[in-house]
Amino acid sequence: KAKNAGNGSIYYFNPVWLEEYQKEASLEHEFVNALNSGDIVPFYQPIIKQDYQTSGFALEALVRWVHPSKGIISPYIILPIAKRLGLMGELGNVIFEQTCVDINKFLDAGLDLQRISVNISSEQLFSAHLVSEIDRCLKAHQVSTSLVEFEIVEELMAGDFQVLSTQLEKLIDLGIQLSIDDFGTGYSSLSRLKNLNVSKLKIDKSFVDGLPNGEEDICIVKSIIGLAKGMGLDLVAEGVETQEQANWLFENGCDYLQGYLISKPVHSIDIIKLMSKQNSFFNRVNKH
Ligand code: C2E
Ligand code: MG
Ligand code: MG
Ligand code: MG
Repeated sequence: KAKNAGNGSIYYFNPVWLEEYQKEASLEHEFVNALNSGDIVPFYQPIIKQDYQTSGFALEALVRWVHPSKGIISPYIILPIAKRLGLMGELGNVIFEQTCVDINKFLDAGLDLQRISVNISSEQLFSAHLVSEIDRCLKAHQVSTSLVEFEIVEELMAGDFQVLSTQLEKLIDLGIQLSIDDFGTGYSSLSRLKNLNVSKLKIDKSFVDGLPNGEEDICIVKSIIGLAKGMGLDLVAEGVETQEQANWLFENGCDYLQGYLISKPVHSIDIIKLMSKQNSFFNRVNKH
């Protein structure tokens, strides 16, 4: 297909487009098999408090496609494919099921794991099957619901309030905690925050990036900290990359940190190595 650039010139079909298209189409084709073959798994990123040596740690599950020839494929490729194929629900189920399996592995390995958070898509959240599927999975793996937290991007808070709150209440009734992801980027209203039974906010990385010197980011992050404290919500800062950011956040009252400073998301096996009490990680973070 030739594209008219609008100024009289014509772009002829570029064979690279076809190549790109075929690559995507073949990934889509492989995706369906990968979902069932165990190549699509959660990686985990630690979330720690300042006193993590005594208080334990949390993890966030983040989807990865461990592709046999292409290496590790990111959610920014995986999620659009799953969306296009209408498989977001299935993807969510695979990730949650594997997370339950891994929770038992982590506890068996003696890790001081307090909680695992899992990202929930809008397709899952507004599905009539979500609650029963989660309940089934928790029971099948004998996982305590108090270990599980769902992250919902702030954007989703803008959906139909009646449907949203009914669905969230059902999850809370199961004993699952809710957190608002990418907080500060999603145009949600504070009255919704007040009326929904959320227990945690996650400050988006884009605000953390400017710390400890950017005046506007300082102001925004301080306001979010004040808001969370005032409402009795826990607070996590996402995307913490430097010791200076970590120091500023702890000094200003943000309790939980997540970011490359502590660790990138890693395979479950590496979490066991990294977070076991004998590991030098527990001494390393404090030495910066
Ligand atoms: P998110 O939930 O906000 O997750 C945080 C993202 O920031 C992750 O990207 C993580 O690897 C990255 N990150 C963490 N610390 C740092 C840091 O210090 N520096 C930098 N540059 N990045 C950092 P990831 O794993 O690529 O995931 C991207 C997004 O995809 C997630 O953002 C989440 O919205 C979505 N996602 C990931 N896994 C799932 C899943 O299983 N289901 C659904 N529905 N969405 C998922
Ligand atoms: Mg998240
Ligand atoms: Mg986030
Ligand atoms: Mg994000």
